[in-house]
Amino acid sequence: MRPHIALVSEMTDTDEALWLQVLGDALRQEPVVSFRRLTAESYADIDIAIVAGPNPDNLAKLPNLKWVHSLWAGVERLVAEYGNAGIPIVRLVDPRMSKTMAESALAWTYYLFRQMPTYATFQRERRWEQLPYRPAEDVTVGVLGLGELGLTAAKLLRSAGFDVLGWSRSPKTAHDIETHHGMDGLETVLTRSEILVCLLPLTPETRGLLNAERLALLPRDAGIINFARGPLIVADDLLKALDAGNLYHAVLDVFDVEPLPRDSRFWSHPRVSVLPHISAPTPRESAAETVARNIRQYRRKHTLPVTVDVARGY
Ligand code: NAP
Repeated sequence: MRPHIALVSEMTDTDEALWLQVLGDALRQEPVVSFRRLTAESYADIDIAIVAGPNPDNLAKLPNLKWVHSLWAGVERLVAEYGNAGIPIVRLVDPRMSKTMAESALAWTYYLFRQMPTYATFQRERRWEQLPYRPAEDVTVGVLGLGELGLTAAKLLRSAGFDVLGWSRSPKTAHDIETHHGMDGLETVLTRSEILVCLLPLTPETRGLLNAERLALLPRDAGIINFARGPLIVADDLLKALDAGNLYHAVLDVFDVEPLPRDSRFWSHPRVSVLPHISAPTPRESAAETVARNIRQYRRKHTLPVTVDVARGY
Protein backbone atom coordinates (compact mmCIF):
# COMPACT_ATOMS: atom_id res chain seq x y z
CA MET A 1 0.00 0.00 0.00
CA ARG A 2 1.41 3.41 -0.95
CA PRO A 3 1.55 5.69 2.10
CA HIS A 4 -0.96 8.53 2.33
CA ILE A 5 0.41 9.97 5.57
CA ALA A 6 3.75 11.76 5.81
CA LEU A 7 5.70 12.88 8.85
CA VAL A 8 7.09 16.31 8.00
CA SER A 9 9.55 17.53 10.58
CA GLU A 10 12.87 19.19 11.18
CA MET A 11 13.79 16.59 13.83
CA THR A 12 17.00 14.62 13.77
CA ASP A 13 16.84 11.30 11.91
CA THR A 14 17.01 9.50 15.26
CA ASP A 15 14.04 11.41 16.72
CA GLU A 16 12.07 10.95 13.50
CA ALA A 17 12.71 7.23 13.61
CA LEU A 18 11.35 7.05 17.18
CA TRP A 19 8.23 8.98 16.19
CA LEU A 20 7.70 6.91 13.04
CA GLN A 21 7.87 3.79 15.17
CA VAL A 22 5.21 4.90 17.71
CA LEU A 23 3.00 6.46 15.02
CA GLY A 24 3.25 3.27 12.96
CA ASP A 25 2.32 1.17 16.02
CA ALA A 26 -0.63 3.44 16.83
CA LEU A 27 -1.94 3.65 13.27
CA ARG A 28 -1.41 -0.05 12.51
CA GLN A 29 -3.47 -0.27 9.31
CA GLU A 30 -1.93 2.83 7.69
CA PRO A 31 1.78 3.32 7.07
CA VAL A 32 3.42 6.65 7.89
CA VAL A 33 6.45 7.70 5.87
CA SER A 34 9.00 10.40 6.51
CA PHE A 35 8.79 13.29 4.05
CA ARG A 36 12.54 12.76 3.61
CA ARG A 37 11.84 9.34 2.02
CA LEU A 38 9.18 10.58 -0.42
CA THR A 39 9.96 10.92 -4.09
CA ALA A 40 8.50 13.80 -6.12
CA GLU A 41 6.16 11.26 -7.84
CA SER A 42 4.65 10.25 -4.49
CA TYR A 43 3.97 13.78 -3.18
CA ALA A 44 0.46 13.63 -4.69
CA ASP A 45 -0.38 10.47 -2.67
CA ILE A 46 -0.20 12.31 0.65
CA ASP A 47 -3.45 13.66 2.06
CA ILE A 48 -2.51 14.01 5.75
CA ALA A 49 0.75 15.41 7.15
CA ILE A 50 1.78 14.81 10.74
CA VAL A 51 4.07 17.71 11.53
CA ALA A 52 6.63 18.83 14.07
CA GLY A 53 8.21 22.19 13.33
CA PRO A 54 7.95 21.52 9.58
CA ASN A 55 9.55 23.55 6.83
CA PRO A 56 6.44 25.11 5.18
CA ASP A 57 8.11 24.75 1.78
CA ASN A 58 7.96 20.97 2.19
CA LEU A 59 4.24 21.09 3.04
CA ALA A 60 3.68 23.22 -0.07
CA LYS A 61 5.07 20.36 -2.18
CA LEU A 62 2.13 18.12 -1.23
CA PRO A 63 -0.62 19.09 -3.73
CA ASN A 64 -3.38 16.91 -2.29
CA LEU A 65 -2.92 17.69 1.40
CA LYS A 66 -6.29 17.87 3.19
CA TRP A 67 -5.08 18.73 6.72
CA VAL A 68 -2.09 18.68 9.02
CA HIS A 69 -1.85 17.29 12.53
CA SER A 70 0.75 18.90 14.78
CA LEU A 71 2.59 16.71 17.26
CA TRP A 72 2.91 19.75 19.53
CA ALA A 73 0.25 21.54 21.61
CA GLY A 74 1.66 24.99 20.78
CA VAL A 75 1.24 25.86 17.10
CA GLU A 76 2.25 29.53 17.02
CA ARG A 77 5.14 28.98 14.59
CA LEU A 78 3.06 26.72 12.33
CA VAL A 79 0.23 29.28 12.24
CA ALA A 80 2.68 32.10 11.46
CA GLU A 81 4.51 30.22 8.72
CA TYR A 82 1.74 28.07 7.23
CA GLY A 83 -1.55 29.57 8.45
CA ASN A 84 -2.21 31.30 5.12
CA ALA A 85 -2.06 28.07 3.10
CA GLY A 86 -5.75 27.43 3.74
CA ILE A 87 -5.09 23.88 4.97
CA PRO A 88 -6.78 23.04 8.31
CA ILE A 89 -4.37 22.64 11.24
CA VAL A 90 -5.10 20.31 14.14
CA ARG A 91 -2.95 20.66 17.23
CA LEU A 92 -2.20 18.06 19.86
CA VAL A 93 -4.68 17.98 22.73
CA ASP A 94 -3.54 15.27 25.10
CA PRO A 95 -4.98 14.91 28.62
CA ARG A 96 -1.71 13.29 29.73
CA MET A 97 0.13 16.47 28.76
CA SER A 98 -2.42 18.67 30.58
CA LYS A 99 -1.85 16.58 33.71
CA THR A 100 1.93 16.92 33.38
CA MET A 101 1.66 20.68 32.92
CA ALA A 102 -0.68 21.00 35.91
CA GLU A 103 1.81 19.02 37.99
CA SER A 104 4.58 21.44 36.93
CA ALA A 105 2.41 24.45 37.73
CA LEU A 106 1.73 23.05 41.20
CA ALA A 107 5.36 22.04 41.83
CA TRP A 108 6.77 25.45 40.95
CA THR A 109 3.95 27.28 42.73
CA TYR A 110 4.97 25.36 45.86
CA TYR A 111 8.59 26.35 45.17
CA LEU A 112 7.61 30.02 45.33
CA PHE A 113 4.92 29.69 48.01
CA ARG A 114 7.27 27.87 50.42
CA GLN A 115 9.99 30.45 49.67
CA MET A 116 12.50 27.85 48.52
CA PRO A 117 14.62 30.37 46.57
CA THR A 118 15.08 32.35 49.81
CA TYR A 119 16.01 29.26 51.86
CA ALA A 120 18.53 28.27 49.16
CA THR A 121 20.12 31.71 49.55
CA PHE A 122 20.10 31.37 53.34
CA GLN A 123 21.90 28.06 53.05
CA ARG A 124 24.60 29.54 50.83
CA GLU A 125 25.05 32.26 53.47
CA ARG A 126 25.03 29.70 56.36
CA ARG A 127 22.18 31.71 57.77
CA TRP A 128 19.67 30.03 60.15
CA GLU A 129 16.47 32.02 59.81
CA GLN A 130 12.83 30.93 59.88
CA LEU A 131 10.41 32.92 57.76
CA PRO A 132 6.73 33.21 58.73
CA TYR A 133 4.44 30.56 57.22
CA ARG A 134 1.22 31.46 55.39
CA PRO A 135 -1.36 28.77 54.56
CA ALA A 136 -2.13 28.12 50.88
CA GLU A 137 -5.69 29.39 51.41
CA ASP A 138 -4.23 32.86 52.08
CA VAL A 139 -2.23 32.93 48.85
CA THR A 140 -3.80 34.03 45.56
CA VAL A 141 -2.55 32.36 42.40
CA GLY A 142 -3.56 33.82 39.03
CA VAL A 143 -3.63 31.59 35.98
CA LEU A 144 -3.49 33.35 32.60
CA GLY A 145 -5.15 31.11 30.00
CA LEU A 146 -7.95 28.70 30.87
CA GLY A 147 -7.58 26.29 27.96
CA GLU A 148 -6.58 22.63 27.93
CA LEU A 149 -3.50 23.30 30.05
CA GLY A 150 -4.48 26.39 32.06
CA LEU A 151 -7.81 25.07 33.30
CA THR A 152 -6.33 21.73 34.38
CA ALA A 153 -3.56 23.62 36.23
CA ALA A 154 -6.05 26.03 37.83
CA LYS A 155 -8.15 23.12 39.11
CA LEU A 156 -5.13 21.32 40.58
CA LEU A 157 -3.94 24.52 42.28
CA ARG A 158 -7.42 25.01 43.70
CA SER A 159 -7.54 21.43 44.99
CA ALA A 160 -4.21 22.14 46.72
CA GLY A 161 -5.99 24.89 48.64
CA PHE A 162 -4.80 28.05 46.87
CA ASP A 163 -7.17 30.90 46.18
CA VAL A 164 -7.22 30.73 42.36
CA LEU A 165 -8.09 33.42 39.81
CA GLY A 166 -8.30 32.54 36.13
CA TRP A 167 -8.16 34.69 33.00
CA SER A 168 -9.27 33.90 29.47
CA ARG A 169 -10.38 35.69 26.32
CA SER A 170 -14.04 34.67 26.51
CA PRO A 171 -16.06 34.26 29.74
CA LYS A 172 -15.52 30.91 31.51
CA THR A 173 -16.89 29.31 34.64
CA ALA A 174 -15.02 26.83 36.79
CA HIS A 175 -16.05 25.50 40.17
CA ASP A 176 -14.47 27.43 43.05
CA ILE A 177 -12.23 29.43 40.72
CA GLU A 178 -12.87 33.13 40.25
CA THR A 179 -12.72 33.79 36.53
CA HIS A 180 -12.15 36.99 34.59
CA HIS A 181 -11.82 37.74 30.91
CA GLY A 182 -10.79 40.49 28.52
CA MET A 183 -8.44 43.40 29.22
CA ASP A 184 -10.48 44.75 32.17
CA GLY A 185 -10.38 41.31 33.74
CA LEU A 186 -6.61 41.16 33.29
CA GLU A 187 -6.05 44.17 35.52
CA THR A 188 -8.12 42.57 38.30
CA VAL A 189 -6.19 39.31 38.03
CA LEU A 190 -2.77 40.97 37.94
CA THR A 191 -3.37 43.28 40.88
CA ARG A 192 -4.31 40.30 43.09
CA SER A 193 -1.99 37.51 41.91
CA GLU A 194 0.81 36.83 44.39
CA ILE A 195 1.91 34.03 42.10
CA LEU A 196 1.14 34.32 38.40
CA VAL A 197 1.15 31.24 36.15
CA CYS A 198 1.24 31.98 32.43
CA LEU A 199 -0.41 29.39 30.15
CA LEU A 200 -1.52 31.52 27.22
CA PRO A 201 -0.84 30.79 23.56
CA LEU A 202 1.43 33.24 21.75
CA THR A 203 -0.73 35.30 19.38
CA PRO A 204 -0.58 38.86 18.02
CA GLU A 205 -2.75 39.83 21.02
CA THR A 206 -0.69 38.11 23.70
CA ARG A 207 2.84 38.89 22.43
CA GLY A 208 4.41 41.28 24.93
CA LEU A 209 1.27 41.17 27.08
CA LEU A 210 3.28 41.24 30.28
CA ASN A 211 5.20 44.49 29.79
CA ALA A 212 6.54 46.94 32.38
CA GLU A 213 3.17 48.55 32.91
CA ARG A 214 1.35 45.27 33.52
CA LEU A 215 4.15 43.73 35.57
CA ALA A 216 3.89 46.81 37.81
CA LEU A 217 0.27 45.88 38.57
CA LEU A 218 1.37 42.69 40.38
CA PRO A 219 1.58 42.88 44.17
CA ARG A 220 5.07 43.61 45.52
CA ASP A 221 7.08 40.39 45.87
CA ALA A 222 4.86 38.47 43.46
CA GLY A 223 6.29 35.40 41.75
CA ILE A 224 5.91 34.63 38.04
CA ILE A 225 5.89 31.26 36.34
CA ASN A 226 6.02 31.24 32.52
CA PHE A 227 5.37 27.81 31.05
CA ALA A 228 3.79 29.02 27.81
CA ARG A 229 6.00 31.00 25.39
CA GLY A 230 8.85 33.43 26.08
CA PRO A 231 7.62 36.46 24.09
CA LEU A 232 4.46 36.71 26.20
CA ILE A 233 6.66 38.58 28.69
CA VAL A 234 8.91 41.47 27.63
CA ALA A 235 12.23 40.06 28.83
CA ASP A 236 13.92 43.42 29.53
CA ASP A 237 10.90 44.64 31.48
CA LEU A 238 10.90 41.48 33.55
CA LEU A 239 14.63 41.83 34.27
CA LYS A 240 14.11 45.45 35.34
CA ALA A 241 11.28 44.48 37.70
CA LEU A 242 13.43 41.70 39.18
CA ASP A 243 16.50 43.98 39.46
CA ALA A 244 14.43 46.58 41.28
CA GLY A 245 13.30 43.90 43.72
CA ASN A 246 9.63 44.50 42.87
CA LEU A 247 9.13 40.83 42.03
CA TYR A 248 10.21 37.95 44.26
CA HIS A 249 11.25 35.39 41.65
CA ALA A 250 10.54 34.22 38.09
CA VAL A 251 10.44 30.59 37.03
CA LEU A 252 11.00 30.53 33.27
CA ASP A 253 10.68 27.43 31.11
CA VAL A 254 10.36 29.29 27.80
CA PHE A 255 12.35 32.10 26.21
CA ASP A 256 12.46 34.40 23.18
CA VAL A 257 15.34 32.31 21.85
CA GLU A 258 15.73 28.62 22.70
CA PRO A 259 18.07 27.13 23.75
CA LEU A 260 18.58 30.17 26.00
CA PRO A 261 21.81 31.86 24.77
CA ARG A 262 24.74 31.42 27.15
CA ASP A 263 25.11 35.18 27.56
CA SER A 264 21.51 35.70 28.70
CA ARG A 265 21.22 37.49 32.04
CA PHE A 266 18.49 35.04 33.05
CA TRP A 267 21.07 32.27 33.62
CA SER A 268 22.76 34.02 36.52
CA HIS A 269 20.02 36.25 37.90
CA PRO A 270 19.52 35.44 41.58
CA ARG A 271 15.78 35.91 41.25
CA VAL A 272 15.35 33.61 38.25
CA SER A 273 15.03 29.84 37.88
CA VAL A 274 15.78 28.71 34.32
CA LEU A 275 14.22 25.50 33.00
CA PRO A 276 15.00 24.05 29.54
CA HIS A 277 11.42 23.90 28.17
CA ILE A 278 10.50 20.82 30.17
CA SER A 279 7.29 21.76 32.00
CA ALA A 280 5.19 19.46 29.79
CA PRO A 281 7.11 17.34 27.30
CA THR A 282 5.02 15.75 24.56
CA PRO A 283 4.37 12.18 25.72
CA ARG A 284 5.33 10.16 22.61
CA GLU A 285 3.07 7.11 23.02
CA SER A 286 -0.08 8.91 24.14
CA ALA A 287 0.46 11.67 21.55
CA ALA A 288 0.74 9.02 18.82
CA GLU A 289 -2.46 7.39 20.08
CA THR A 290 -4.27 10.75 19.97
CA VAL A 291 -3.05 11.45 16.43
CA ALA A 292 -4.02 7.92 15.31
CA ARG A 293 -7.50 8.26 16.85
CA ASN A 294 -8.06 11.55 15.01
CA ILE A 295 -6.86 10.10 11.71
CA ARG A 296 -9.00 6.96 12.07
CA GLN A 297 -12.05 9.13 12.75
CA TYR A 298 -11.28 11.17 9.65
CA ARG A 299 -10.91 8.05 7.52
CA ARG A 300 -14.21 6.64 8.84
CA LYS A 301 -16.43 9.71 9.02
CA HIS A 302 -14.56 12.42 7.12
CA THR A 303 -14.78 14.68 10.16
CA LEU A 304 -11.84 16.64 11.48
CA PRO A 305 -11.11 17.21 15.17
CA VAL A 306 -11.30 20.82 16.39
CA THR A 307 -8.98 22.85 14.17
CA VAL A 308 -6.87 25.88 15.00
CA ASP A 309 -8.53 29.23 14.35
CA VAL A 310 -5.82 30.79 12.22
CA ALA A 311 -7.24 34.33 12.43
CA ARG A 312 -7.37 34.14 16.24
CA GLY A 313 -3.91 32.59 16.33
CA TYR A 314 -4.67 29.55 18.53
P1 NAP B 1 -5.65 26.44 24.52
O1 NAP B 1 -6.41 25.24 24.92
O2 NAP B 1 -5.78 26.97 23.14
O3 NAP B 1 -6.05 27.60 25.56
C1 NAP B 1 -5.62 28.90 25.42
C2 NAP B 1 -6.25 29.74 26.53
O4 NAP B 1 -5.70 31.07 26.46
C3 NAP B 1 -7.77 29.86 26.41
O5 NAP B 1 -8.37 29.87 27.68
C4 NAP B 1 -7.93 31.23 25.73
O6 NAP B 1 -9.14 31.89 26.02
C5 NAP B 1 -6.79 31.99 26.36
N1 NAP B 1 -6.43 33.14 25.53
C6 NAP B 1 -5.97 33.15 24.25
N2 NAP B 1 -5.80 34.41 23.82
C7 NAP B 1 -6.18 35.21 24.83
C8 NAP B 1 -6.27 36.61 24.99
N3 NAP B 1 -5.94 37.46 24.01
N4 NAP B 1 -6.73 37.10 26.17
C9 NAP B 1 -7.10 36.25 27.15
N5 NAP B 1 -7.04 34.91 27.08
C10 NAP B 1 -6.58 34.40 25.93
O7 NAP B 1 -4.07 26.25 24.76
P2 NAP B 1 -3.36 25.19 25.75
O8 NAP B 1 -3.39 23.82 25.18
O9 NAP B 1 -3.90 25.39 27.13
O10 NAP B 1 -1.83 25.67 25.64
C11 NAP B 1 -1.42 26.98 26.00
C12 NAP B 1 0.00 27.22 25.52
O11 NAP B 1 0.93 26.48 26.33
C13 NAP B 1 0.31 26.69 24.10
O12 NAP B 1 -0.14 27.62 23.13
C14 NAP B 1 1.81 26.57 24.13
O13 NAP B 1 2.40 27.77 23.70
C15 NAP B 1 2.15 26.37 25.61
N6 NAP B 1 2.77 25.04 25.86
C16 NAP B 1 3.96 25.00 26.52
C17 NAP B 1 4.56 23.76 26.80
C18 NAP B 1 5.87 23.67 27.55
O14 NAP B 1 6.43 22.58 27.68
N7 NAP B 1 6.39 24.75 28.10
C19 NAP B 1 3.91 22.57 26.41
C20 NAP B 1 2.70 22.67 25.74
C21 NAP B 1 2.14 23.90 25.47
P3 NAP B 1 -10.56 31.27 25.54
O15 NAP B 1 -10.78 30.11 26.48
O16 NAP B 1 -11.52 32.37 25.76
O17 NAP B 1 -10.37 30.83 24.11
